[in-house]
Amino acid sequence: MKYLKIILALTCIYVLSISFKPLHRSAASDDYPIYNGNDLGVTWSPEKTVFKIWAPTASAVKLRLYAAGEGGKALQMHNLTKAQQGVWELTITQDLKNQYYTFQTNINGRWLKERPDIYARAVGVNGRRGMVVDLASTNPKKWALDKKPAQKNFTDIIIYELHVRDLSMSANSGIEHKGKFLGLAETKTKSPDGTITGLDHIKSLGVTHVHLLPSFDYNSVDETKPEASEYNWGYDPLNYNVPEGSYATDPYDGNVRIREFKKMVQTLHTNGLRVILDVVYNHTCDTSANFNQFVPGYFYRHTAGGAYSNATGCGNETASEKAMMRQYMIESVVYWAKEYHLDGFRFDLMGVHDIQTMNAISAALHKVDPTIFIYGEGWAVGNSPLDENLRAVKKNASKLDKIAVFSDDIRDGIKGGWSDVKSKGFVSGAPGMAESVKFGIVGSVQHPQVDYTKVNYSKAPWAAEPYQTISYVSCHDDNTLWDRLKISNPSASEAELIKMDKLANTIVFTSQGVAFLHAGEEMLRTKNGVANSFQSPDAINELDWGRKAKYKEVFDYYKSLIALRKHHPAFRMPSAQMIREHLKFIDTKDQNLIAYQIGGNANGDNWRNIMIILNGNTTSTKFNLPDGRWRLVADGKTIDEKSMKAVNGGTIVLPATSAYVLYEL
Ligand code: CA
Repeated sequence: MKYLKIILALTCIYVLSISFKPLHRSAASDDYPIYNGNDLGVTWSPEKTVFKIWAPTASAVKLRLYAAGEGGKALQMHNLTKAQQGVWELTITQDLKNQYYTFQTNINGRWLKERPDIYARAVGVNGRRGMVVDLASTNPKKWALDKKPAQKNFTDIIIYELHVRDLSMSANSGIEHKGKFLGLAETKTKSPDGTITGLDHIKSLGVTHVHLLPSFDYNSVDETKPEASEYNWGYDPLNYNVPEGSYATDPYDGNVRIREFKKMVQTLHTNGLRVILDVVYNHTCDTSANFNQFVPGYFYRHTAGGAYSNATGCGNETASEKAMMRQYMIESVVYWAKEYHLDGFRFDLMGVHDIQTMNAISAALHKVDPTIFIYGEGWAVGNSPLDENLRAVKKNASKLDKIAVFSDDIRDGIKGGWSDVKSKGFVSGAPGMAESVKFGIVGSVQHPQVDYTKVNYSKAPWAAEPYQTISYVSCHDDNTLWDRLKISNPSASEAELIKMDKLANTIVFTSQGVAFLHAGEEMLRTKNGVANSFQSPDAINELDWGRKAKYKEVFDYYKSLIALRKHHPAFRMPSAQMIREHLKFIDTKDQNLIAYQIGGNANGDNWRNIMIILNGNTTSTKFNLPDGRWRLVADGKTIDEKSMKAVNGGTIVLPATSAYVLYEL
């Protein structure tokens, strides 16, 4: 495989020791009766609660009810009855609201672990028992009036990738609910130096969507002591349909995490921000997770020898192509979209999932709300038994319907290849990167002026339309942009590094496609060179708000950059055809100097003609500006849309490592 994303694999190494077990897999496991209803799980009403699970290989199933999410003896125990299509069911005509429960299946004469069903919508502490929930009672005030911020085209989206805990944990965040969903719902927060922090900061930056790292119930953080316990990104799923308990003010009461998650979404919406959830259906935290307590082996892929296959690098991979796994994924995201009013989903290692499932997910979500945005990592980590041609990898992006993938092509063209942290990219003067950057500028679509033979990873355009490209230079994986620039340019001064940083994101934010920003880049976020901080302490991961004041000029630049993109639809063209028609590169005869025009009032822009000149050279560079009466709005240091000065055509000199933006009316 040309491109392995092993960094994410490293996040999962801690489960490997318990994941590689021989497996009792039946060759007939794909032939189990399929249940087509949509009522699996636990359905509460004051009069009765219905319990329904799919367990076609079970010979008996027990339900136990408890007063709490942990400890204590069962209050009641019941046997479920076998129904049609592999379903077991039980109706209890009592009001069971807020009671906790477990199921236990007997398979091949053995009782498996007591666990919540895979459909559980509420759980107790650490997710070991389900809770019978009255979802309406978890709604915050005015939830029915919650309104999503307006959105026209997918290419208008600007994503801010954030870990719930990172935003608020720092002592200087000024946020009361540190590390919690509610911390993201606090407004008017300031650091001791008076700098605006938290939600108000994100809002003022001008992004349109907050993308939350896994915030469903994951396994690794002990919810009984989250402050004292380990930090984790959360790529180790436990209960897919439940919010993570360590982010709630009370992880014991199953209602609280639901209510607080909704409160967070509601507050973000009120503040003009849409919300995206990072979802991780490609593997489970380990193979003792809930799936295997109900239908052992079924939900996973296997090698020819019967062992768990491992395209995720995490010891197992799920089997989206199997009917009940596919249905599970569809129902799960639709549930999040409807119950939590979510606006988008980011699929971790989407390249593990099959194309048919991803398109079915897209269709189901867009039936709920056509503005929901779906994207994912178009790669896997290791080999999968499912043919790559059938999977949602980047090269198959054009077969995906209304689904985007991350562009590692532009990312690594800008800053250097991911596999060698010391390697340089276009912004630090590396030769041979221009075509990879140009590939990203056109949003990974077909464009006659891109030489695809010279692109770093993709030798052909993979996006049918520009919305299918996530344009970015860094995310939670690998070093922060600032750290990477420092490591790969050890002799550069801080001033030179800041120029590279600004140039990097100026490329991203003037490129076609969907723009994506790793939280904190706007204040030169550092993780002190830790590339894989999945379980590093808060001191490494948290946003240090002191940097916002220290690098105020950088923050102001990013804010202006985002405003420039938002004010000018030419940077957000919605179709490949429009890009080919309006975006023309100029041959600069210099492989570290990219120049292009977006002409003809593209996409209704009030600027007739826009010139973008990207100087990756570490020296000042001449450029022959075409004839015209240009206005300069970006000079590498600052951005001023009202224009700094008039510039006539002819030879101009760009400073080292800088981006110029000019326009003609
Ligand atoms: Ca958890």
